[in-house]
Amino acid sequence: MTAPCPHCGTTTIVFTPSEAQFEAVVRALANGSKTLAAGEFRYFAQCTDAEATAWVAHLLHCAHAWPQAGADEAVLAQVEAAFAGVDKPDHFTDRTHCDECREHDDTLRARTRDTLHRSDLGNAGWDPITFSSADGIGYFFPALARFALLPDVWPQHSWYADQLVLHLAWDGSDNRLLAWCNPAQRSAVHALLAHLAATRGQAAVHHQFDEELQAALAAWQMPTA
Ligand SMILES: [Zn+2]
Ligand SMILES: [Zn+2]
Repeated sequence: MTAPCPHCGTTTIVFTPSEAQFEAVVRALANGSKTLAAGEFRYFAQCTDAEATAWVAHLLHCAHAWPQAGADEAVLAQVEAAFAGVDKPDHFTDRTHCDECREHDDTLRARTRDTLHRSDLGNAGWDPITFSSADGIGYFFPALARFALLPDVWPQHSWYADQLVLHLAWDGSDNRLLAWCNPAQRSAVHALLAHLAATRGQAAVHHQFDEELQAALAAWQMPTA
């Protein structure tokens, strides 16, 4: 069975892959092979080569084709609304502390929420957000959330969801961003974590940060009155 995409009109086969199946398709694309990606999809959907190739082509040109796109946008809208009023601080780190703190401050000061690059966020061993004040993290949070929901496609960097979850799990209920957030911001962060667990739970296991994800969820759970 085929149907037109309600957004762009492209007609593709109707088949919603499971999280694990979709991850296999994305992994093939991340490795640079549309042919392998179509091969994976053909196997899962039990369709023809032409149908699989068309499905992959649509995935690559239509942002709405990604299975989680609608739910992703809803949680990102909640995050953006909650953090919209946070101004960019003059400084992000204690830049007089050491060379690393100064470099991280320079990196973050040079960017805005809209111009922040994946490469600015480094990796677990060199991560400017680790050294940022809570209001600095709050300022960038909508961009961090958006990067966390993108798939693991960075040739020079890890999947960003790992890094963000580690920041949110750090120090448990004494987390410095948690202490800084107002209730609307806390609930937006919790919604993002719950969305990650619901839609990328298997990927979190695969990337070995499912325990941190559960710890972050527990820390950000709103206290029940
Ligand atoms: Zn489309
Ligand atoms: Zn330092």
